[in-house]
Amino acid sequence: MERPQTEQTEQTEQTGRAERTEQAARREGAAPDDGRATVVTGSGRARPPEEFTADICVVGAGPAGLVLALLLLKSGLRVAVVERARAHQREFRGEILQPGALTLLDSLGVLAGARARGAHEHTRFRLVEGGRTLLDIDYRELPAPYDYLLSIPQAHVLDELLLHCDAYEGFTYLDGRRVGELLREDGRITGVAADGPGGACTVRAHVVVGADGRFSKVRRLAGIEAGRREAFDLDVLWFKLTDDRSGARGPETLRDVRVFRAGGSPVLVYDSWPDRVQVGWTLPHKGFKDVAAQGIDRVKEQLAQAVPPYAELIREQIGSMRDLSLLDVFSGRAERWSDDGLVLIGDAAHTHSPIGAQGINLAIQDAVLLHPLLVASHRAGDASAEFLSAFERTRSADIEQVMRLQRLQSKAMLSRGTFATRVRPRLAALLRRTPVYRRVLGRIALGNPSVRIAEELFVPDVPEGGNR
Ligand SMILES: Cc1cc2nc3c(=O)[nH]c(=O)nc-3n(C[C@H](O)[C@H](O)[C@H](O)COP(=O)(O)OP(=O)(O)OC[C@H]3O[C@@H](n4cnc5c(N)ncnc54)[C@H](O)[C@@H]3O)c2cc1C
Repeated sequence: MERPQTEQTEQTEQTGRAERTEQAARREGAAPDDGRATVVTGSGRARPPEEFTADICVVGAGPAGLVLALLLLKSGLRVAVVERARAHQREFRGEILQPGALTLLDSLGVLAGARARGAHEHTRFRLVEGGRTLLDIDYRELPAPYDYLLSIPQAHVLDELLLHCDAYEGFTYLDGRRVGELLREDGRITGVAADGPGGACTVRAHVVVGADGRFSKVRRLAGIEAGRREAFDLDVLWFKLTDDRSGARGPETLRDVRVFRAGGSPVLVYDSWPDRVQVGWTLPHKGFKDVAAQGIDRVKEQLAQAVPPYAELIREQIGSMRDLSLLDVFSGRAERWSDDGLVLIGDAAHTHSPIGAQGINLAIQDAVLLHPLLVASHRAGDASAEFLSAFERTRSADIEQVMRLQRLQSKAMLSRGTFATRVRPRLAALLRRTPVYRRVLGRIALGNPSVRIAEELFVPDVPEGGNR
């Protein structure tokens, strides 16, 4: 049976089919202990030094890891980021940013540059069935300027963050290196060992931050259970179509993130930069076998019927199962987020379903909340689990609340029958005029509104000049 692409995890170890970005191709050097860069020019390929020290070692250059790195650098700390990939052009990355993430990225000074690389604004989130709208969440009801959802390739955000990190002398970027071991002294985590095409290295640090995503290796090496919850019980077939009509529409076009309710298998659709349409077809968990057994033509027909506006593109562009990627959708919460010398953040600490586009928002807010705690930990010379667990105590309630909201959103998308299709839409329309609706919208869009960047910790004259 022909199979779709499956997600890259620590277990599958697939090679990404994505191309390297120009920037990533330039990213060859690394910093020795004195914090100076080794620059690679022309054919003279310098061997990267093997041992590094930093105040904080961040594993994973996703949204959580890079936002945290930038905040710490601005506060005068030396930061080493270890990243297994050599480019950001990977599959399976969420690209819808909520207003909460936009606000924080703007305060950090990276939003404009990321947007300039290309993005689409979306004004509404709509649940539709046949010609009817069952749920309509209009982001224009939020206060400007962050009154929209932004669909932006994660590479645009991450490259911009890297550019800003690069401006600091205390920054060491070790890409193409996969962390495979935690270093310990007297039981306390004191660093990591990593290897890969970038070269083998060790990094010793006051604190190691595991920001290495939902299949976190750091979490596993620390012996911390992932706490997977099968709350959603679904898989997603994930793929992109090219839509020339989308690319041709100007910035004034009103775009929506839409979920087409097609029986028990809703389909998520949104315009993705520059001229693509991202499609996510939800299937019952482990239900792919039954679908695949029907053959690609039947799969295409089901999809075409579920999303009539894209029927033609689906028929034209999907040739085989290999054009689809099968994702395992789950949520989870690690049994604890800290150890002596270690903190977990973002998806490594708590993993969310893509429903409701919350993961990046939460990852960035985690970084913003952890920043002052790490500065304090460094100043006090205290990296004990007890000290670092203050992060989990502060953040727990927010995460549980988002998980509850996502369960409700998922129910609204998946449930069937008269209540779901007739009663709930009317209730939703009535609720729309109440403060409850605005509170829920605010929560989905902004997360915890009290999360703010601790700019008072920034040091004005941090030496500039990154180490790559
Ligand atoms: C299909 C799908 C769609 C989604 N859509 C959205 C969306 O639209 N909006 C949204 O907000 N969220 C979405 N999400 C969730 C979102 O992508 C994540 O929540 C978010 O990326 C988490 O950020 P992070 O920095 O914690 O982890 P990640 O973004 O996963 O980054 C982890 C980094 O660690 C690196 N790494 C992993 N292991 C190692 C290792 N051993 N050594 C070194 N480096 C390592 C990885 O290469 C990666 O760069 C979606 C998720 C999925 C699966």
